Amino acid sequence: MNKEMIIDPEIKAMFELLAEDASTMEACMAKIKCSLSIAAELFHINKVELKLEAPVSKLCPEGQRAVEVLYDTGDASDGEPNISVFPLTSGGTVTIMDYPRDQSKFSSKELELHNMLLRQIFYKISRTMTQNLLQQVMMTDMSTGVANQDYLMHFAGGLIASGQIANYNIIFFNVHNFKYVNKVFSYEQGDIILRNYAQHIKNIMGNDEIVARLGGDNFVLVFHKERREKLIEQLQNIRIHHQWQMKEREFVFGATIGVSNLNGITVPRAIMGRASIAYQAARQKGVGSVVEFSPEIEQEILANQSIVSNFLPALQAKEFVIYYQPKVNVADRTMYGAEALVRWIRNGKMVPPMQFIPQLEREGSVCKLDYYVLESVCAFLKDRQNKGLSVVPISVNYSRRHLEEENLVERTLEIIDRYGVDHHLIEIELTESEDFQNYEIMSEIIDEFKANGIGTSIDDFGTGFSSLNMIKEVDLETIKIDKSFIPLETDYPGKDRDLVMFHSIVQLINELDKKSIAEGVETVEQLEYLKGVGCDIVQGYVFDKPLPQEIFEERLASAHPYENI
Ligand code: C2E
Ligand code: MG
Ligand code: MG
Repeated sequence: MNKEMIIDPEIKAMFELLAEDASTMEACMAKIKCSLSIAAELFHINKVELKLEAPVSKLCPEGQRAVEVLYDTGDASDGEPNISVFPLTSGGTVTIMDYPRDQSKFSSKELELHNMLLRQIFYKISRTMTQNLLQQVMMTDMSTGVANQDYLMHFAGGLIASGQIANYNIIFFNVHNFKYVNKVFSYEQGDIILRNYAQHIKNIMGNDEIVARLGGDNFVLVFHKERREKLIEQLQNIRIHHQWQMKEREFVFGATIGVSNLNGITVPRAIMGRASIAYQAARQKGVGSVVEFSPEIEQEILANQSIVSNFLPALQAKEFVIYYQPKVNVADRTMYGAEALVRWIRNGKMVPPMQFIPQLEREGSVCKLDYYVLESVCAFLKDRQNKGLSVVPISVNYSRRHLEEENLVERTLEIIDRYGVDHHLIEIELTESEDFQNYEIMSEIIDEFKANGIGTSIDDFGTGFSSLNMIKEVDLETIKIDKSFIPLETDYPGKDRDLVMFHSIVQLINELDKKSIAEGVETVEQLEYLKGVGCDIVQGYVFDKPLPQEIFEERLASAHPYENI
């Protein structure tokens, strides 16, 4: 009987149907149902039920449970089912229950055949599940469960093909504050929070919209253009609750956002270009900014890129020159020291530092420039000493990017010692950092410099992120009070308050036994005021602008260059 049935054309058709590939689970089930309707009569089947149980996984955070009736004659008299349990390679099981007709039992011959059939059904399901899983893996960012870049391209392709792309906008954004989470908590906890964050974003996107992760804490959204304002607003205030050490914590995340329309996009890989330019501009503008793409912004970004790419050749070609701005003792008008300030002579024109330092800072090569300035200063000092000429301590600006270097102090000492310059002739100006951890690193570095006889100062005090606590705890020798704090001589609303504030800052610095330098002092009137409140040293146009080396040397040669101011 067995042999006869197998060569039966209907059986053949049934097995052929089961062997066919199905691209989706629905198609797979449809094929199984169709083949069972052929098999039911011949195999004496009344009903077939399938139970799927898959465990929790990254792709399926809730696990999977499904019961599906694959075939049913509608006859209520079920009888004893033949139950087969098949293990899935990805974990979990597929259970198939097949009930005989007329409450009878399957014969052993029938059972043998049934088991063959059920096994074929299982293979088909398992193969389709694996294919689906693979497809899902290929389209999903495994750490967050949202789409990956490949799927983003696939999605964009669909919008282009259906002519809908111009109805959509794109946002390229970076989660603000996320680095902080990774620093305070473990990376494992950070991953969980990032996943919850990404799922939260997924939930605010519509069915025909997408969120994709590009890696790190960078994401892309493609969405209906009418929703732009709403989405931007939401991205700037995402609240994630996280259970940690028995406590419920709430994290509030903002975002730095580049946004663009998608008009005229004809190939998927072009969708990110404008948004990523807008994002770069937003980053330059500051954390939490939102920038919309425009051709002007593109020009600006290109100009910045040209600064970065021309930097190393320019450094080799010695296009950077050092200017020196004297610092003057308020009491006796003698020169206390000077600050080295770099300029870039580019195509015969002098480019001020604010036009290239921020770009180099973002990109990281600013440290190379700072070491170059330090070397130039050391060479200058040594040369003067060799000639028996007078010298003063010179301060060099160190970007906050130096705090990321492991051997910052060693490298600095190596340069100074290579030129044989006395350590007390070099001072390092550091700027405050927004990053709380750098605060500790900064403290260690400052102590190390101090132990080696190198002075340190905090630059632009009052403009950045420093707290008064910091100057109390970090053992800096000098505080440079930013020019925005220096009270102006003209009358303006709030002047009295500014005077009180400035006075208090100077007092505090003096009480902590540190030196105060007032930067950006422009008038004699300001100078008199500063003297009155006990500010020791002044740097500013009132005495001198940053000077080319030759003129600075003239000041050094003069016994009392500032006596008449
Ligand atoms: P900074 O270190 O705070 O330097 C003081 C800035 O104030 C200088 O601008 C100086 O020219 C300006 N200044 C001095 N006196 C006055 C004044 O009386 N009035 C006004 N309005 N301005 C005054 P500069 O040279 O354009 O440098 C700007 C910034 O660029 C510096 O601020 C520093 O942060 C950075 N920088 C300069 N050279 C270097 C360098 O070699 N390395 C690094 N990392 N940064 C540098
Ligand atoms: Mg400075
Ligand atoms: Mg400054």
